[in-house]
Amino acid sequence: MVKKAVQRTLGRHRVGLMLYLGNLPIRVGAFHQMGTNDIVLNRRLLGQTRSLKEKSNVFAILVHEYLHTLGFRDERQVRRLTHKVCQENFGKSHQVVQASLTGPWAELTDEDFMEIQQELKLEMVRDFERIEGGYII
Ligand SMILES: [Zn+2]
Repeated sequence: MVKKAVQRTLGRHRVGLMLYLGNLPIRVGAFHQMGTNDIVLNRRLLGQTRSLKEKSNVFAILVHEYLHTLGFRDERQVRRLTHKVCQENFGKSHQVVQASLTGPWAELTDEDFMEIQQELKLEMVRDFERIEGGYII
């Protein structure tokens, strides 16, 4: 869904991404290290209750990180484009648009990374790219 939305709004697409879950600080939604194919999503965002608000947060965060993997580096530009992608695909009043404005958008610093490395517990999400077929909602 993220890829389709970005394709529709910005006409950009890429493959070969790996998605991981990790224990990140709660103010950090996810991170992508430039030059890698990896996105690490904060496991703490995936709670037991999957409300529309939580799903919307995860969607907006994945759009944000996916834009980084497409080569967009400027944080303000990425936030603006994330908002645009969400708005054009879901309409102004959708929860996803709200999520694209509120974050969590804190950046993971090198110091953070050193600190959390022990408890990060990365777990690869299998068949992440195959999900593109669209049978999981
Ligand atoms: Zn960012």
